[in-house]
Amino acid sequence: MTSNSTPHSRVGVNSEAAAGAVLLLSRPRGFCAGVVRAVQVVEMALEARGSPVYVLHEIIHNQRVLADLRERGAVFVERLDEVPGQACVIFSAHGVPRSIEREARHRGLQVIDATCPLVAKVHLEVMQHARAGRDVVMVGHAGHPEVVGTLGRFDTSRGGTAHLVETLDDVQSLQVRDPTHVAVVTQTTLSVDDSRRIVAALRERFPAIVEPRRDDICYATQSRQNGVRNLLPLVDLVLVVGARNSSNANRLREVAMDGGREAHLVQDAQEIDVRWLRPGIVIGITAGASTPAVLVDEVIDTLRGWGAQAATEMEGEDETVTFRLPVSLSRATVQRETRKKTDEEHQIL
Ligand code: SF4
Repeated sequence: MTSNSTPHSRVGVNSEAAAGAVLLLSRPRGFCAGVVRAVQVVEMALEARGSPVYVLHEIIHNQRVLADLRERGAVFVERLDEVPGQACVIFSAHGVPRSIEREARHRGLQVIDATCPLVAKVHLEVMQHARAGRDVVMVGHAGHPEVVGTLGRFDTSRGGTAHLVETLDDVQSLQVRDPTHVAVVTQTTLSVDDSRRIVAALRERFPAIVEPRRDDICYATQSRQNGVRNLLPLVDLVLVVGARNSSNANRLREVAMDGGREAHLVQDAQEIDVRWLRPGIVIGITAGASTPAVLVDEVIDTLRGWGAQAATEMEGEDETVTFRLPVSLSRATVQRETRKKTDEEHQIL
């Protein structure tokens, strides 16, 4: 069975593939507060300003969400010079380097910044260390938009340098200007365990290293990884629903594999391979922070179609975090509402 078979033929052929399988849903899973806010920003910008609204990079890493926003008038671009003059451009939840902000201002674009406040917190740390003349070591994955944005916040004019380390080997070969004047920050979506190991190695090499007062790995990454750890003693297989380029979804798969379980990342129900299944298997299901609930529902429906029992949700951390919308957007929305109200009043008169 290949992953591009139609759902119909797969259901027909594999109606017993997961007969009696137990489905356990990890908690929490799916959308985090930063992603909810970012999607809401695009929706409200479309409503307030009309189409098209340009978005620099994928607002979040999920093709289903992007396709929906595209249909409603969002245009995703990879470079700022693809945005016409005076147009409205939204910066994605991953954040952007300072140079992009400057270029947008210089070109007179109307910017709405949907950078997650928890990514912005790391930006602030990097800027403070640069001002203090420290070298900054960022633990993260090369090329990820969040890493590009965060490193791009570092101002070298005070003599410091920003470094990226991905592995323990990178820590050993790292050369800094002054080993007593170094700070560390991390990407928000790393594996908590991997990041701890790398930061411990940095601490060993640079005992005076300045660390964040509060962990840079965000609450949503940590709670989703904890949820998977809780599942592990109970399941044979873990399915992580998420995009292949989603950092936090990939980390969830790694947490499950490090815990000794077979684990697969699937973008949607179409990607479930029946060879992973057998009658009576216990399957843990989770989803990355940028995965909409509908994709998890489709995975459950597909497995149910193959004979699995109704899904049970595990106990887990309650999430109550919400983030305020960017000020520029709130202002635009208030103006639009006021205009609408005035128009309505004129019509009544
Ligand atoms: S995963 Fe964390 S840092 Fe990223 S958008 Fe969600 S809350 Fe913000």
